[in-house]
Amino acid sequence: MEKTDKNVSIPLTCAECGSNNSVFICNITSRTRCRTCKAPVSPIAEPVCVESASFMNFVGAAMAPILAVFLDLRSGPCRLATPDLHALARDVAGRAIILKVDTGICPELAIAYGASSLPHFVLWSDSEPRLEHHGAVSEAEMKRWLAPMEEVEDSQCPRRVAKVLDGSARLVRAIRQGFAFGTF
Ligand SMILES: [Zn+2]
Repeated sequence: MEKTDKNVSIPLTCAECGSNNSVFICNITSRTRCRTCKAPVSPIAEPVCVESASFMNFVGAAMAPILAVFLDLRSGPCRLATPDLHALARDVAGRAIILKVDTGICPELAIAYGASSLPHFVLWSDSEPRLEHHGAVSEAEMKRWLAPMEEVEDSQCPRRVAKVLDGSARLVRAIRQGFAFGTF
């Protein structure tokens, strides 16, 4: 795995005063205060489009589960097969981060993570892939993958999140052993 930088930040706009706050990726699910007006700045609530370098930083540094969706944004069927990731990102804001990986721009990431059939989904927790799925999936299904996190009150504690997601890791192993995903 490439070296990651926990001090990489992304801009989050304050809903109160509109000023841009720079938030470290490792703090991205916490409610920080706006530097200008001191209002709480909401955790990230939309899918983040990433390229190779920022992808590694997110996966390596974020203290929250990450659902990466690999898709080809130039492909109409691929876009149609992918449910509304904006709605999902809003629903899981503060508990998980949705990353969009455009395989047309980052073919090397698609190869590295086995995204040969699109859309392809990988759920990470504590910098480890916990669940993989390829092919169209409903938004309800994605929420089911992320549901164990709703039991985690403190999303700042990656070890606890990882523990809750152990069930998902077992699910990945079961899928690899040939069980049909739909039977779970
Ligand atoms: Zn503000």
